[in-house]
Amino acid sequence: MSFVQALVHPEDLVALVKFKFLGGAESVTPRVNLSTLDKPLQVCYQLLKRTSRSFAVVIQALDEELRDAVCLFYLVLRALDTVEDDMTITSAEKIPLLKKFHEFLDDPTWSYSKSSCKDGVVLERFPVISNEYRRLKPAFRDVIKDITARMGAGFCIYLEKEVSTLADWDEYCHFAAGLVGVGLSQLFAASGLEDVSVATSTELSNSMGLFLQKTNIIRDYLEDVNDNRHFWPREVWSQYAPNIGDFRKREMSAPAVACLNHLITNALSHVPDVIAYLSQLKNQSIFNFCAIPQVMAIATLARCYNNHNVFTGVVKIRKGEACSMMMESTNMEKTVEIFNERILELGGKITVTDPSASITLSSVQNALVLCHSSLQQKGTEASVKPTLKIQLPAVRLDHEDRVGLYRLRSSRKESRRSLLLSPLLSWTVCLLAVTYQYWGLYLPVQLKDSL
Ligand code: MG
Repeated sequence: MSFVQALVHPEDLVALVKFKFLGGAESVTPRVNLSTLDKPLQVCYQLLKRTSRSFAVVIQALDEELRDAVCLFYLVLRALDTVEDDMTITSAEKIPLLKKFHEFLDDPTWSYSKSSCKDGVVLERFPVISNEYRRLKPAFRDVIKDITARMGAGFCIYLEKEVSTLADWDEYCHFAAGLVGVGLSQLFAASGLEDVSVATSTELSNSMGLFLQKTNIIRDYLEDVNDNRHFWPREVWSQYAPNIGDFRKREMSAPAVACLNHLITNALSHVPDVIAYLSQLKNQSIFNFCAIPQVMAIATLARCYNNHNVFTGVVKIRKGEACSMMMESTNMEKTVEIFNERILELGGKITVTDPSASITLSSVQNALVLCHSSLQQKGTEASVKPTLKIQLPAVRLDHEDRVGLYRLRSSRKESRRSLLLSPLLSWTVCLLAVTYQYWGLYLPVQLKDSL
């Protein structure tokens, strides 16, 4: 599928080939050699791969001691979330399970085999997970248990309460993901790889989780509504439709997109915290681990903004784009450049008629100024100059200038693209690839299978 998409977006082909065959993946996300681990820990990493493809990749790239702690943190929270998501478990059974879940970490025998969810295996194999948890150092165990207890209690609140106000939205996202950010920051500090200040800046850590969670909730509208789950806040959607499911109707496309844009504008408010959080990190593997999901999120928001396809299918960034961003977001300058570029993409789609347009534009401008000052602080000529060219005119733009805004892309990125990814070159590579693929001589047999 990725290869087919690359026919339409030839620039993706270069990124895919570089990522898969020229060492791109190994440099950003080195894999754990499972055979060097004890058998129970091997099982844990296998469970991680089975329950999360994206997180499994970035977790394995972390430095060793922290890597195991984060792997187990993920599995414990995946188990807790599986209980929360399981609609076949009655509230009478579910609430005590969620409230006591953190206690099961100290019980070598506790497991749960009645889950009908796809990730139920983590509940069935919970003794393996809890056993490895108990082998972690106390500082890691304390963090995992504390966050599990707080998340379980939070899930109980929202089992019996809908996400009504924007404050509820923030609170629900805090329980579902903000706490993950808080816990991860505490694990980073406990590992000694990051300063204690990373753990104590809980507002920034919380925003990291909220930005990802809100992006997922916004993108997954159709899937959630079709499954009768509602995570969009009533306070917002009720301004545009009598029922949240109405946005699926063709005649509701205008209010649906207006509501979508309203929520994306809200999510953009977390960008300053995300930039501030990432800029305090020192360890390379932790930086990659944190930055990669965030650049995927801003790219997803930019793609979803003003896009009615959110209500008819799944809007995703292409695999080639994802590979390119993973390889690029390995330091602060490049990460901020990606934010800058994607925020410009979003800003270029603002229309005068959108009810949230002025607030969205203001958020876009604020984020661009922040990107600019972040790059300026880093002080490298190469980073500052092209960003100045884009951002200062963009900040002065009003709605009528949206076409102009769209044109204001990084001159450096454009020149790099025009040089490396000229249509002629890209299509030549593409045609060669298709020819080899047809004759069965080309490597992407593996590429096709794995992507
Ligand atoms: Mg859940």
